[in-house]
Amino acid sequence: MEKLIEVKGLKTYFYTEDGVVKAVDDVSFSIEKGKTLGIVGESGSGKSITSLSIMRLVQSPPGKIVGGEVLFHGKDLLKLPISEMRQVRGNDIAMIFQEPMTSLNPVFTIGRQIAEAVILHQKTDKKTAWEKAVQMLSLVGIPNPEKRVKEYPHQLSGGMRQRVMIAMALSCSPELLICDEPTTALDVTIQAQILDLINALKQETGAAIIMITHALGVIAEVADDVIVMYCGKIVEHAEVHALFKNPLHPYTEGLLQSIPKLNQSDDVKLQSIPGMVPKMTQMPEGCPFHPRCKYAKEICTKRQPENLEVDGHIVRCLKYDPECSELWKEGAR
Ligand code: SF4
Repeated sequence: MEKLIEVKGLKTYFYTEDGVVKAVDDVSFSIEKGKTLGIVGESGSGKSITSLSIMRLVQSPPGKIVGGEVLFHGKDLLKLPISEMRQVRGNDIAMIFQEPMTSLNPVFTIGRQIAEAVILHQKTDKKTAWEKAVQMLSLVGIPNPEKRVKEYPHQLSGGMRQRVMIAMALSCSPELLICDEPTTALDVTIQAQILDLINALKQETGAAIIMITHALGVIAEVADDVIVMYCGKIVEHAEVHALFKNPLHPYTEGLLQSIPKLNQSDDVKLQSIPGMVPKMTQMPEGCPFHPRCKYAKEICTKRQPENLEVDGHIVRCLKYDPECSELWKEGAR
């Protein structure tokens, strides 16, 4: 299938007083039309900076995209003049964030805000844009859209506001929708409704989706493929069922062991990954995960793992490196 977006060797660094933070370090992936890629990791893993880099919204200074390509329909977005990039944002690629209240303007009605986005990107007249706003509110399941369209953000619940953000993002029929923790601030029932909505809209519009989240439950609901990030690097990339069934990277394994399972009895304790994500200006030598890894060997403190292809997964761990895998065989010291 045709690749809609291809990220190749993306590097985004932050130049801070404490040193260089390699927030995104040599990240590569691609997404086909109509597919959903989940990006998962703890905060500071680089997942949000990856999406901001695609949109060229990284705050500079201190941030800078220092390498790589972001090919959208084969055209490198990182090389586009800013005026063309503005056209891409909203028109071709749209983004929704965790807290809709910070993205909605409290002094304008939601109808006006959606209509303005439509006028800006699709050059329609006001009447058509207003009708589109009503139509979009109805599409995202807001009851009584003709009335709701005249309301202000504070008159809506958190779940409704997130639906409005989705309506606004989809009003220009983007080919790629980036969702950054879209359900984190919502309660569980509303979360499920929003995820169902995103899935249904994907079927209806054929848009590709990048779903950024720290919650593997969300990934299981919506993703076709999954990337697991740790300290700015992809540590595992696999098809969603393969990742849940057979996680290869010890970090992915740890993340999966920390979520409850449906058939799990009440006395089974959930396991958390010990330790903390290291400070990005004080990264450990070797594999960045070694201070927290239950499989770590001495070599992990010295050597950085490279990407390897194993059983259809891409994984970054020395356990699978033919040069050192002997060390993990039973009885090895
Ligand atoms: Fe763990 Fe070593 Fe693999 Fe890193 S390289 S994840 S420390 S086993």
